[in-house]
Amino acid sequence: MKLTVVGCSGSFPSAESACSSYLVEADGFRLLLDMGNGALGELQRHIGLYDLDAIFLSHLHADHCIDMCGYFVARYYRHEGGRCDALPVYAPEGAEQRLTTAYADTPSPTAMSEVFDFRTLTTGSFELGPFTIRTAKVCHPVEAYGIRVEHGGRVLAYSGDTGVCEALHALADGADLFLCEASFTHGKEDIPELHLNGREAGAQADRARVGRLVLTHIPPWTDGERNLADARAVYGGPAELAKAGAVYEV
Ligand SMILES: [Zn+2]
Ligand SMILES: [Zn+2]
Repeated sequence: MKLTVVGCSGSFPSAESACSSYLVEADGFRLLLDMGNGALGELQRHIGLYDLDAIFLSHLHADHCIDMCGYFVARYYRHEGGRCDALPVYAPEGAEQRLTTAYADTPSPTAMSEVFDFRTLTTGSFELGPFTIRTAKVCHPVEAYGIRVEHGGRVLAYSGDTGVCEALHALADGADLFLCEASFTHGKEDIPELHLNGREAGAQADRARVGRLVLTHIPPWTDGERNLADARAVYGGPAELAKAGAVYEV
């Protein structure tokens, strides 16, 4: 699998990065994990506008899904070749309504579904192109999911937004690469059931015995290097901060 960090800023974009969005590719299939603020522009640095095969939206906070409104325009009003087919979009219940409301002026109440095939996420497993996917509800103030993507015996896990929870451990268990949020700073913002801090992300990685930890979703006002040091204090494997444009072979 090839993982490209399209955007990795937490909560709102930074000067260096769009919000959460990660491209996972294998056997020519392209799955996008989240499409936060600014991600649609960055995505076009890596692939064509219409090259996606499926989208996973971890939850409906704007920093994970709001560029779907712009992507609706691109697919619905495509200038060449007519309207796009409905792209599978795996998202929590209510995604179509939420995005339709955010857009504010779709040509009809069901226009979104003409170019997006919304499929409601639950905790479970399914096959998607060449991938075996497992999703699980994680711990966040709104319905939110983490995802485990398997291909050819390799495993990528993505936390989405979450506090410490057993579901996250199960998703990350033995993953070759664990893309884990670390929004908060240890000792400063230890708020349960909302986000992880660097130390908690490191502890999750250590307990799940992951091969590599990539910390992501660090807001512009948070010191990423401090979070990385906090993670390294409890996780002995390779650990780094996600950066926009970074590519990993998983
Ligand atoms: Zn977020
Ligand atoms: Zn969130």
